[in-house]
Amino acid sequence: MPDIIQLLPDNIANQIAAGEVIQRPASAVKELLENAVDAGADEIKLIVADAGKTLIQVVDNGKGMSETDARMAFERHATSKISNIEDLFRIKTMGFRGEALASIAAVAQVELKTKRADDDTGVFIAIENSAVTTQEPIAVPNGTSIAMKNLFFNVPARRNFLKSNPSELRHIVDEFIRVAMAFPNIFFSLTSNGQQMFHLEKGTLKQRIVQILGNTYNSKLVSVQEHTDYMNIYGFVGKPETAKKTRGDQYFFVNNRFIKSAYLNHALMNAFDTMIAKDSFPMYALFIDLDPSQVDINVHPTKQEIKFEDEKIVYAFVQSAVKHALAQFSITPTLDFDLDASIQQLDAVSKPFTEEKKSSASSSSLYNTFTQKNQSHFIESKSGLKHWKDFYEKDTPRAIPVQQEEAVLMPSGYHPQTENLVQLHNSFIVAQTVRGYYLVHQQNAHERILYEQFMQALDGKPIATQRSLFPVTLNLSATDAVLLQGLIPDMQQLGYLLEPFGSNTFVIQGVPADVSDGNEKIAVEKMLEQYKHFSSDLKFSKREKLLRSMALQQSVKAGTTLSAIEMTSLVDNLFHCITPNITPNGKPTYLEFKKDELDKMFGR
Ligand code: ADP
Ligand code: MG
Repeated sequence: MPDIIQLLPDNIANQIAAGEVIQRPASAVKELLENAVDAGADEIKLIVADAGKTLIQVVDNGKGMSETDARMAFERHATSKISNIEDLFRIKTMGFRGEALASIAAVAQVELKTKRADDDTGVFIAIENSAVTTQEPIAVPNGTSIAMKNLFFNVPARRNFLKSNPSELRHIVDEFIRVAMAFPNIFFSLTSNGQQMFHLEKGTLKQRIVQILGNTYNSKLVSVQEHTDYMNIYGFVGKPETAKKTRGDQYFFVNNRFIKSAYLNHALMNAFDTMIAKDSFPMYALFIDLDPSQVDINVHPTKQEIKFEDEKIVYAFVQSAVKHALAQFSITPTLDFDLDASIQQLDAVSKPFTEEKKSSASSSSLYNTFTQKNQSHFIESKSGLKHWKDFYEKDTPRAIPVQQEEAVLMPSGYHPQTENLVQLHNSFIVAQTVRGYYLVHQQNAHERILYEQFMQALDGKPIATQRSLFPVTLNLSATDAVLLQGLIPDMQQLGYLLEPFGSNTFVIQGVPADVSDGNEKIAVEKMLEQYKHFSSDLKFSKREKLLRSMALQQSVKAGTTLSAIEMTSLVDNLFHCITPNITPNGKPTYLEFKKDELDKMFGR
């Protein structure tokens, strides 16, 4: 009888191993994005076609690879991130198993372009079936671009197993969001079939959350922040009223790695307790940092499940940190964040915490249960603001998401005088009412007016186009061209007459009367730029994004001197809007100052 055991060839072994790491396009996306983060990039672009089935490409501006490393990277167990078993317990990088690229090279056609800053030329490597087919020098920017084409081309069984494009794309977006949320200091974009879905500028965590989850959260986030010797937690939870009937906006990160944990989710739900309905789920994005030796991230090939050295401590910590944050928020409701920044400088806010307030905060039982050794509490009191809050907020609009935007009925007496208006700092307009005065923000107000005008235009009252005597041509990138092409019919309603003219080129045949000669091109380009910023808002329709972009882009900017007639027409138009009090994004368009409140403040 012959011996029957044989060693599998490398490419087969890699294909089998790949099954663990690369289950679907989204898993490859996760690995490639994490590699780019590990490479120190601060700009990461993800490009997919056919929900990743035909193309997944990640372009980063990170540290790049040498020629030898570039080849090595595709070997199984090839990693620059650990060199011995102890390193596993000091992991600061996202990757460490050295499997991702080897797996990808086994199940897709891969093209790598990479260059280090100190090298004169970069290297291009093409791989198929785990074998290098091309390797040559190439002129490329610093950083790395990895394109993987035709995922599972050589494993038909797996390819057939993939879900529909919308479903696979959804998985990709989920992975993209998880990485992008954890690194707000990195620029991320996601382009799918030539259309940009996300364009996430660098910013704070709060800005990133709002960019990703939408503006409705802008004034609805409660900050969570606790520090101990053992671990830190920071991030945001949604105010109870934002809880949804569906799971979804829930993110835990441990040492910046997104994890799934029913256990920690339970801790969080416990903290919300009776503040939300039984069958609803609060939004959260919480970051737990602790010594890497206290977690084992190597219990699962995709590292989404982890083991804590001491689960119970983590549970208790998460629960009380969130309770604490919620308690603070309900004892002394915070101002809407939008107003926060401008009011922060006021004396009433910067005044120190008085003993009286401190004791009222600390008599809360939640505060007591949480106070223990080694915990530096940061109990902020915003009650100094209360007075200011009343003053501003009674009639000050709250952000209302557009879907449920309601008409604000303005009783007579609320309408301001529209003559003898005064402009301050070329940015604000003071308009007297019977009860006091409004301080109108000219740009925000104009944005609201334009938004409603444009909405009417799309609903059937098109804005007149002025045909240009000298049509201007517009050359765009391929992505922008695809974008603009899709907007042509709606833009025509808004007064822009655009005609496609060969590859990525358009001719501007006409624009609305108020776009001045010579500015046609800029107007369209800026609108597109603005549109892309809104692209991260998945919940907005194409039309809604267009409306918002146009309104924002065409609004008269702060710093512009307005004539008496312009001010009158602005204030008049504003108070004839259906929703005069906020911009489409929920920023206030005016603040009301009441005479009797003013009298009180002056001791009268
Ligand atoms: P791991 O990330 O676990 O180390 P991978 O297979 O994902 O394993 O990557 C192998 C190695 O290739 C990494 O350790 C790193 O040195 C290098 N590498 C991968 N992607 C990049 C990138 N985008 N930029 C620079 N180096 C990279
Ligand atoms: Mg990796």
